[in-house]
Order: sequence, then C-alpha cells, then structure tokens
Amino acid sequence: ARYDIDGLVSRLDGIKTETNPALVKQKSRDFYWYSPTLKRQLDEVSGDVVVSPKSRDEVVRTLEVAFALGIPVTPRGTGTGNYGQAMPLSGGIVLDLSLFNAVTEIHHGRVVAEPGAVVAAMDKTTRADSRQEIRLHPSTYHTASIGGFIAGGSGGVGSIRWGGLRDAGNIISLEVVTMEASPRVLTLTGDDLHKVSHAYGTNGIITKVEMPLTPAYAWVDVIHGFDTLREATEFANSAGEQDGLLLKELAVVAAPVPHDHFKRHRKYLPREKHLVLAMVADFALTPYLAFAARHRGSELLFRNDTLAPEDAKGLPPVFELAWNHTTLRALRDDPTITYLQVLYPFPNQVELVTRIHERFGDELPAHLEFVKFDGKVTCFGLPLVRFTSEERLDEIMAIHEEMGAPIFNPHRYTLEEGGMKQTDEVQLAFKREADPQGLLNPGKMIAWEDPSYDYRSGKTFLFRGLAEA
Ligand code: FAD
Repeated sequence: ARYDIDGLVSRLDGIKTETNPALVKQKSRDFYWYSPTLKRQLDEVSGDVVVSPKSRDEVVRTLEVAFALGIPVTPRGTGTGNYGQAMPLSGGIVLDLSLFNAVTEIHHGRVVAEPGAVVAAMDKTTRADSRQEIRLHPSTYHTASIGGFIAGGSGGVGSIRWGGLRDAGNIISLEVVTMEASPRVLTLTGDDLHKVSHAYGTNGIITKVEMPLTPAYAWVDVIHGFDTLREATEFANSAGEQDGLLLKELAVVAAPVPHDHFKRHRKYLPREKHLVLAMVADFALTPYLAFAARHRGSELLFRNDTLAPEDAKGLPPVFELAWNHTTLRALRDDPTITYLQVLYPFPNQVELVTRIHERFGDELPAHLEFVKFDGKVTCFGLPLVRFTSEERLDEIMAIHEEMGAPIFNPHRYTLEEGGMKQTDEVQLAFKREADPQGLLNPGKMIAWEDPSYDYRSGKTFLFRGLAEA
C-alpha cells in the first residue's frame, strides 16, 4: 500500500471514515467527465479512504494525523466541480466536508456558515430568518457546498449584478486550517482572501465562511426569442446595462440548442429562435417587458409567473438552463458535445461574439452569460462544441485567442492551465507557508510541482501521481 491507511483510521477513532473501494472511488470523482480530455486522463483516479469530519476540531485532528503519516489530503464539498478539482491525483484521503454544514450566524447583511453547507440550504435559512439571500451562487445551487464554491467556483447566478467571487466584497472572511505538524487556524479577510479563493484547496482547508447577503426578492423567469444571435446579444447587453432593472441572471443561448435540449420548456421554444434567459425581480418585471418590447426583433416566449399550475409542474428554474447546466443538458442528450470557457473583453463583446460565431457556425453553438466585470457589463461564453478531436479543440481555442477572446480551458485539471496560464504568486507563497510538505490536493498547482515548467511551450502538464492511479 502507498500509505498507512490502517494506522490513519485507528488514530482517527471517533471520526467517520470509509475504506470500501467502490464508495471511496465514488467520492473521488466530480463532473470531470464533461471534458473528453479529462475523462481520458482521470477516469482511474481514486483516493484510499474518505474521512468525513463534522467539526473544525475533527478537521484539525485529521490533518495532524495525515501530516504525521505523510498522507495527501484532497478536500471535497459535494463534488460538482467540472475540472477534476476534487479528484485525489496521488490517492490518500478524500476529506469530505459535506457533513460539516451548519449555518451558524445570520446578521443584517451577512451570514456565517460551515464549509459543507449547501447553498440552497443556506439561502432557505437566511430567507426564513430575515428575508435575505446570498448574492451569487452557481447554477448547482441545489447541490453545491459553499466551501466548494469558494475554493473551486467563480461566479454564476447573481454575477450580472455583483460580479464574481473574487471581486472585492463578495466574500467577507474565511477561516482556514493549515497542513502542518500542528495545524494552525487562520482567519483571512480583505486581499488575503485571494490566497485561498479558487485555489482548489491546495493550500488550506476552509472551515468557516462569512458571506454578504442582500434583501431576498421574488424572481420571475422570463425568456425572449430573437431571429439572430446578434439581436439577442445586443438586447442582453443593453438590458444588463439598465441599472434600474433588477436582474439576477441574464444569458443568451443560440438556436437550436434550447429547443433540442431544454426538454421541459420545449413547447415554448421555437427551434430557430435564439434566446435571452433572465431572472427579473417581480417589481422590475413590467419595466423589463416594456424595455424588451421596444427592442428590435424581440418576442416574449415564456414567463413563469402566469403559468397554469399544470404547466408549472416539473419545470426547472431558468438558472438550471444556464451556466454549466446548459452544457449538462446538451451533453446528456448528445455525448459528443463538450464546451469552452471564453471571455469577450469589454467594450467589444457584441462585435467579438458575432465575428467568432459567424466563423464557426453550428460547430460552436453560442452560450453567453452576462456579468459585471470590473464594474462593466460584458459576457463570458460557455459555447458548446460539437467535438471531433482534441486537436480540433485546441485549434478552436487558438483561433479564439487570435481573435482577441481569452480562453479559460475547462479541459485541464491544473489551476494554471485552466485559468491565467501563469503562476499565482500569492497562492504559491501561501502554500509554502500553509502546506510545506505539499500534501494538500497534489498535482493541481503547477508552480509547486514543477517550478521550472514553461507555460509558453504549450505542452500539457501531466502530474506524476496520475501514472500511479
Ligand atoms: P467540489 O467540487 O467538491 O470542490 C471544488 C474544489 O474546492 C475542489 O478543488 C476541492 O478540493 C475544493 N474544496 C471543497 N471544499 C473545500 C474546503 N472546505 N476547503 C478547501 N477546499 C475545498 N461553478 C460556478 O462557479 N458557477 C456556476 O454557475 C456553475 N454551474 C455549474 C453547473 C453544473 C451543471 C455543474 C456540474 C457545475 C457547475 N459549476 C459552476 C461548478 C461547481 O458546481 C461549483 O463551482 C460548485 O460551487 C462547487 O462546489 P462543490 O461543493 O461541488 O465543490
């Protein structure tokens, strides 16, 4: 055996552990299979044991023993990430935080919770307590943990108003436990939050989160159709710029994806229409509809506030047609579909979207998510790709970058290759301090594993731990 798992389990007496290989493998995966590349690379990855602490003390004890025995630890919320973030490339411990999940404090404007709290459960509690809701959440609202969102996600529903998780003010504080002989408990605030937000748990275990709240609203799902992608994009862009219209979600999905893959909504969605999906605060609905009505080419296709009860039954919320749910619905029907993540930089987003999609046509059906990015409205793309080969996928990405649209490659499991293609010095420096033996989620931070790695070479980083899997 690679590690002394029996020794670990006996020293963790009183903490929930699981060593049944089938169950451990189940908890060693996430939604990596969205990517044909990651599916090929990571299919065999498995931890050796799942440890499920229920409190900060149990986390500290687990890290202390794991450190003493030299066993790697890969944290896991609920395993809904898309890039293999929560997959233990060197085996060892899967640290399942889903049972450590209480909402512990609610105040005017903020909530404190344990890391395994599922976002929907937090929202339900804060709504019931004082009619407040969380500012932003992934479209996996019903399943994702708040700790996993902070460590592995970026933004989502609510980002049209509030921007992303890494924007100032969208996280208030985090408590983090380090991976040392005697683990320390640190509280991070302000710019220090960047040390661990979106660091995939490579440099500390988040044991408490403090997040801002906003007044809770009643949200109405509204869908408009357009004859061209250009008209849909122009409308969404201008609706996003109307500060007086309170929106929580604003997306464009190109024909024929909605009709083909949004099955429960199909009867409302003509196959040739390009859609704008929105979540609109109830009191902003009339002005939103009026704004849309005077926009070139718009047709109101759907609103969920006037549906007959038999029509409303079983319909998913519109946010579960958006973000990576768009991808999920399409690839469930057609496993040859995959996707990309693209930024269309302000202020040329509408032009760029039009030019890129004219170039690729139906090989790359458009999906745009409008967001506030440094205070400006622009869009991210999560275009679908009708996949043919990894070489063609690379070519499509290269063409995007040539045309001025940076790619965040969702077909890579490392922080650097998926994101900015360079070392995050802040996260690296914190890892030296908080995880000196490199035991936390090995293989995900290139800067740690191979400081001489050359990003310009264009070669994929392959972690040695993978070969042993
Ligand atoms: P996990 O997948 O369990 O973990 C994510 C990462 O965080 C891993 O690296 C893990 O090691 C680390 N981690 C988990 N808990 C901790 C902790 N307590 N301390 C330190 N590290 C930790 N993401 C978005 O940002 N926006 C979206 O709109 C969105 N939509 C999605 C739609 C679908 C259909 C799917 C499948 C995924 C989507 N995602 C989205 C990705 C993912 O669902 C979210 O990022 C989610 O918040 C991750 O939470 P989780 O609990 O599943 O995290």
